[in-house]
Order: sequence, then C-alpha cells, then structure tokens
Amino acid sequence: QAAFRSNLAPLLELVGTGKESLSFMKKRIRHLAQQWLRAARRLEQKLKGQQGDQKHILIHIGFLTEESGDVFSPRVLKGGPLGEMVQWADILAALFLLGHSLKVTVSLKELQSNLGVPPGRGNCPLTNPLPFDLIYTDYHGLQQMKQHMGLSFKKYRCRVRVIDTFGTEPAYNHEEYATLRGFRTNWGYWNLHPSQFMTMFPHTPDNSFMGFVSEELNQTERQRIKSNKVGSMAVVYGKEASIWKGKEKFLAILNKYMEIHGTVYYETQRPPEVPAFVKNHGLLPQHEFQQLLRKAKLFIGFGFPYEGPAPLEAIANGCVFLQARFNPPHSSLNHEFFRGKPTSREVSSQHPYAEDFIGKPHVWTVDYNNSEEFEAAIKTILRTQVDPYLPYEYTCEGMLERIHAYIQHQDFCTMPSPPPPAKAQSPAMQSPPSPLALSPNATHLVWSPSALRDPHAWPPADSLQVWLSEGRHSCTETCRRRGLVCEPTFFRFLNKKEVFLQLSITCDSTEYEMNHLYPAVAENVHECYLQKEPLLFSCAGHNTKYRRLCPCRDYREGQVALCRDCL
Ligand code: UDP
Repeated sequence: QAAFRSNLAPLLELVGTGKESLSFMKKRIRHLAQQWLRAARRLEQKLKGQQGDQKHILIHIGFLTEESGDVFSPRVLKGGPLGEMVQWADILAALFLLGHSLKVTVSLKELQSNLGVPPGRGNCPLTNPLPFDLIYTDYHGLQQMKQHMGLSFKKYRCRVRVIDTFGTEPAYNHEEYATLRGFRTNWGYWNLHPSQFMTMFPHTPDNSFMGFVSEELNQTERQRIKSNKVGSMAVVYGKEASIWKGKEKFLAILNKYMEIHGTVYYETQRPPEVPAFVKNHGLLPQHEFQQLLRKAKLFIGFGFPYEGPAPLEAIANGCVFLQARFNPPHSSLNHEFFRGKPTSREVSSQHPYAEDFIGKPHVWTVDYNNSEEFEAAIKTILRTQVDPYLPYEYTCEGMLERIHAYIQHQDFCTMPSPPPPAKAQSPAMQSPPSPLALSPNATHLVWSPSALRDPHAWPPADSLQVWLSEGRHSCTETCRRRGLVCEPTFFRFLNKKEVFLQLSITCDSTEYEMNHLYPAVAENVHECYLQKEPLLFSCAGHNTKYRRLCPCRDYREGQVALCRDCL
C-alpha cells in the first residue's frame, strides 16, 4: 500500500546537487512544502484509505543530462526557460507525497546503473527484470533508454510516461502512418500509447494532462492582496530581453496609463530593448516574482513565451492577464517555434488555456494590431475589479488527485482487447446499444450504461456520449462545444458498424482502414470508415471530407482530466 508522506525533506535528498536547475527545483519544493502537505492531507481524507499499491518509480530527467547537452541549467539564472523545471519539481513532490518509492536520475551513467545495464555494455537487453513499475522521463530520456536497453526497450516501454510540454498527437506518434502520410517531425514516431505523453496544459485529450501547480492563497492573504494592489502597476511577461524587441508602440500606449515593471535578466546594464520608463527588477527569485505579482494590477504578454506557468501565477495573485490574439493561429505549419513539433494544434493566443479555460474578467485576449482595441482593453481593465483565481486542476490537491488517478488506473501494458471484426460483437454489446436519447437530427447518442458495462474501462464507460462532428471540427472541438471533453479510450466502443446504424447514417460501404480521423463517414458518398489501428484513435484532426464519430464525456468541475465518477 502507498501511504501519504508527511515530510518533503527526504525528497530533497533524492534530487542531487551540482546544477542550478536542481537548486531551482529544490527551492521550489521547499517553498511550496506546506501547501503540498495540506493538500496531501485533504486528498488522504477524500480517498478514505483507498490509496492503492506503492509503485517503484524511476524519474529520469533527460533534458538535464550532460549527454543531451543540458542547455537549460546554465541559463536558469540568466532568464532562460524555467517552465519545465517548475513542472518536474511539482511532479517529484506529487509522486513522493502519494507515497511511492522514487529514484531520480539526471545523468546517463545513473540511468544505466538504475536500469541494470551491465557496465561498459550498451544497447543490450537487460539481464534482470526492470526494477521499476513506472518511468517518468522526457523525449531526451526516451532516446537514451532506447539506445541503452536494446530489445528490452520494446518490452518495457509501456511503463514509460513522457513529460511532453506541447503534446504529441496520434498521427505523429504512429511510425508507419506518420512516415506514409508525411507527418514528419523531429520528435514523433515512438508508437507509444498517446496517453503515455503527459502535457503541461490540457492541449489535446489524446495525451494525459499532467500540469503543475501555482501558489494558493488563503482568505486572509486574498484580502491582504486585494487591499495592497497598486491599481496602476503593470508587469510585462518575459525574462529575456529579446521578448521586448519591437514592442515600443504597445509599451508607449501602456505607459500612458500604467507604471510598467519588468523582470528582465541583465548583466551590468539595462538591456537596450527595455525602455527607460520601465522599472526593471532584473530576473527575480521565484517567490519575489510572486510578491511583485501580488502588487500588480496587470500582467501583460507580448506573444512569447508560449504557454508558460507565469500567467497562471499572475491570475492566482489577482492580476488581469492581457495577451495577443494570433490571427492566423500559430502552428507547426506556419511558425518556427512549433515547426517539427508533433502536433497540428493551432495556437490562437500566447496562452490558449488562459483564453479558453479562464477567460474574462481575468484574461483579455485582444488583437494587438489594432491599437484602439489594445488601448480600450487597458482602459477597461483599469476599471475592472478581479479576485485572485486558480483553477482547481492547478492546485496541489488537484494535481495530486489527477496523478493518483493516473497511477491507479492507467495501464498500457495490458491492452484492452482489439476492436472486434465488423460483424462480431463484444460481450458488452450483445444487444445493440440502446440510446437513451437521440437528437432530432440524429447526430447525438447517449448510450445506456448497461449496454457498455465493462468493469475494466477507465474512465467508466457510462459517461460516454457519441457526437457526430461537422467536417471542419476535430473531436476535441466537437465535444468542447457541448461542454464535454473528447475521451480517446472510448473510441473502441464506437468503432463499430452498428453505431452508424444507431445514428441513422446510411453506409453504402464500410471499410476498416488506418486513418487518424476514423471512425468517420463521408456523407455525400455514403461511405463509412472504421479504424484499423487502435493507436491512431485521435481526438485531434479534421478534414472537410469527413464527419467524425466522437466519443465525449463529462468532467469534474475544474479538473478536465477526470470524469465525474473517475475517482
Ligand atoms: N519566474 C521567476 N523569476 C522571474 C520571472 C519568472 O522565477 O523574474 C518564474 C515564474 O514564477 C514561472 C517560471 O519563471 O514559474 C516560468 O515562467 P514562464 O511562464 O516565463 O515560462 P518559461 O518560458 O520560463 O518556461
């Protein structure tokens, strides 16, 4: 049995020393310790002793190894990216508090010795069974494991979880399909189960949403922050001077109304990109940055960095976040930053999570090319009162709850039975599913729970609703528009001929093929298609030729990763 831990000090011993990145992570764990411990106590009470087994977990942080270049550690104190370290620190804290047994490695040598690779031998199968139930790593670590485990990599890869900031969509993950269909990237082709990739924000439901945490405020702190806010103070998002380049016009407008603060790294002199009227504090230690946010009214983004933790921290500390809308959206097709990333996601603003999941009054997404719209937004924000806000999924309790559920329920080593051939019916489907509701235009099915009773399904299948997409929408979008979320594990329930029938879709022909948009129907020609390759079930993806069958489910308020009955 895993038992909740009540002290984070032993974790700090496990993390090691000698790199700025590790010091940053340890400082963060120390600073948030009380908050983590309170959250662990609350979750412990909620679970009423049903904590499940203790797992042996290896955490191999590949991007921090010298062998992958470790470009991050030397930049920790120089304004380089910190988001990944924020997330790894929080993953370590959460796994430790949930009571699992952890090993942490940040070098190839340590990785090899923990995996049991015989010294001096690479690329050979392991001689002993792998001593870990789970391995959390990243793309760099995955590559290292593949190189050094020989054939054992294939055997054990189902135990791996890949921390993957921006996400990997199924079409890019499936080696044969990606190669055949031109989904070429620098990162894809691993043939993992798409849910083994764990993202920083809930980007695509095809991957698991891992997240991170932000500081929470109690009632007294909230009151204190509200009374200490400096109504005319703005902080600019971006610790690197390059982010400020070419932004003089916006800064000049903003400067008419507000005192502008920055936290831009510099060595000896003010960086030339930062105008003299800006009060630059230099790069601040994380807790001092939080203090600055507590005073500020506005946190303003100029388009980069994409999708980092700082806007959530600003909103949690009572700031309004103002950011640029991207029109057209940025993606791997049109933007250097996303080129080669295994996703087709269209990024509609600097921080789509803030835009879509939080929104007004906390988040304003405006067209910066339109100076009037920009200026009007600033004026309105100055008149708007907001309370500090943090979505539950970014609290310590929310993250512990989510990781706990994944560890107890996600199993990629024993695969669910493959989709039955066209005519066969699984035991759960012996009688055709009986819809509880069928919308008048027959685009929507809610199946009776009894028709789908499958004791091994997680999430439980009775949260399934099937919706038919419009040609221009992915399943992610189709479900989102109904206040639901696409649930890829349910595709196997609807990858059946009978489902077309239930939806009154006429199929002159039905084919099983490999295509990440299937199951789907090409309506004008009455051709129906089912999915031949379960790894290609994908919430992402759309094509005007097809209307897709989409598996949607409900979710807990503030915790999109979990359905209402998922705990
Ligand atoms: N941060 C910091 N000092 C500063 C500015 C930001 O420690 O002066 C922290 C901030 O608290 C956040 C982290 O940097 O947790 C990463 O923030 P960002 O959104 O900038 O993402 P990145 O681009 O670094 O991944």
